[in-house]
Amino acid sequence: MSKTNKEIHCSFCGVRKSDTQMLIAGDDAHICDRCVNQASEILAEELRQRKQKSMQTALELIRPSEIKKHLDEFVIGQDAAKKSISVAVYNHYKRLNHQVSKDEIEIEKSNLIIVGETGTGKTLLAKTVAKILNVPFCIVDATVLTEAGYVGEDVESILTRLLQAADYDVAAAERGIIYIDEIDKVARKTDNPSITRDVSGEGVQQALLKILEGTTVNVPPQGGRKHPDQKMIGVNTKDILFICGGAFDGIEKKIATRLRTQTVGYKMKDDEADVDLENLYKYITPQDLKNFGLIPELIGRLPVLTYLNPLDKKTLYSILIKPKNALIKQYKKLFEYEGLNLKFDKNVYDFIVDKAWEFKLGARGLRSICEAIMLDAMFEVPSEDELEDKNTFRITLQYAQKKFEQSDIQKLKVA
Ligand code: ADP
Repeated sequence: MSKTNKEIHCSFCGVRKSDTQMLIAGDDAHICDRCVNQASEILAEELRQRKQKSMQTALELIRPSEIKKHLDEFVIGQDAAKKSISVAVYNHYKRLNHQVSKDEIEIEKSNLIIVGETGTGKTLLAKTVAKILNVPFCIVDATVLTEAGYVGEDVESILTRLLQAADYDVAAAERGIIYIDEIDKVARKTDNPSITRDVSGEGVQQALLKILEGTTVNVPPQGGRKHPDQKMIGVNTKDILFICGGAFDGIEKKIATRLRTQTVGYKMKDDEADVDLENLYKYITPQDLKNFGLIPELIGRLPVLTYLNPLDKKTLYSILIKPKNALIKQYKKLFEYEGLNLKFDKNVYDFIVDKAWEFKLGARGLRSICEAIMLDAMFEVPSEDELEDKNTFRITLQYAQKKFEQSDIQKLKVA
């Protein structure tokens, strides 16, 4: 019997054409609709597993000491915080890579809380860590959050931001990092529960608990209020790392009080004299956060507590010139694009640092002061008589002082 007379069948499962909805012909073979579907499922699963594996190996490769080394390139000083963050992040991703069965020891999440004056690098640290690990990252401000149902943003909106940062790749978002800024601003206002509800303080802390711990949240993809017809995306927060930051203004007093009361009644130990009164942040404990107005449940979900040192002049100087993307390097690059070689006299750096210090603007002030000095030169390419030679533009102390005086930056001065 000739081959053509035989009813054709699927070359994979053997089903006859008459028993299928569709049989697709290839060069010398056929495939039925069911096998196509099955193959597509196998393919999707295989790709998913490969992606997960590659994410895992990528994350596993970075050891804490390496994470810290990377951080050193962008963040000046703050060694204690860098060390804690590197270890916490490493443990977090180690935990993800070794999902345990029920009877094994389960490693808890290592969400962090960073305490330090404003402008000392809290956000920068969180952002840099996310960049090193190549995971989605977003920053949210705790002050805009309110308890669900009140004016302001629901706590779920945090996840909308992360989803957006991950280009709506839910699997990637579920391993991302969220930085919650100004967590101190949602501290409980008083120790006595008042009759009126504290919807923007304790209410927000309560709402954050579940998300920090790990739960599946239905997130409106575009943010805003939930409404019934909107399609929601389920995001599991179990493997999202949360880093909270805050200045906790006034907490030094609480720390000092605690340190003092601890030593009352005892013979003062020699190390009492070593207490660094300039930087009490380094003695911070969870108890101080509680005294400040964070609820114990929230503190419990942020097990890694670390601090940032206030920036001294020497550190400000380094911040100005040293990091990989230091301000001075950025200006030089901008002028390079114009074909100009930008040079600064060393005493200009001192001038910028002194002004940032005098204005109490911290590292953020460096930028405003540099802008004040550089604005004119960036507005109009310096004329030939302003150039040192054909293509070198030199910023002298005299030039910097003059531009600074002419600018309206004086108004930024903190009284
Ligand atoms: P915070 O979140 O603590 O208020 P940021 O991280 O936003 O402060 O820091 C503000 C800016 O100051 C950053 O963009 C960064 O350029 C600079 N900066 C602050 N601290 C440091 C630091 N330790 N090393 C390098 N740059 C810093």
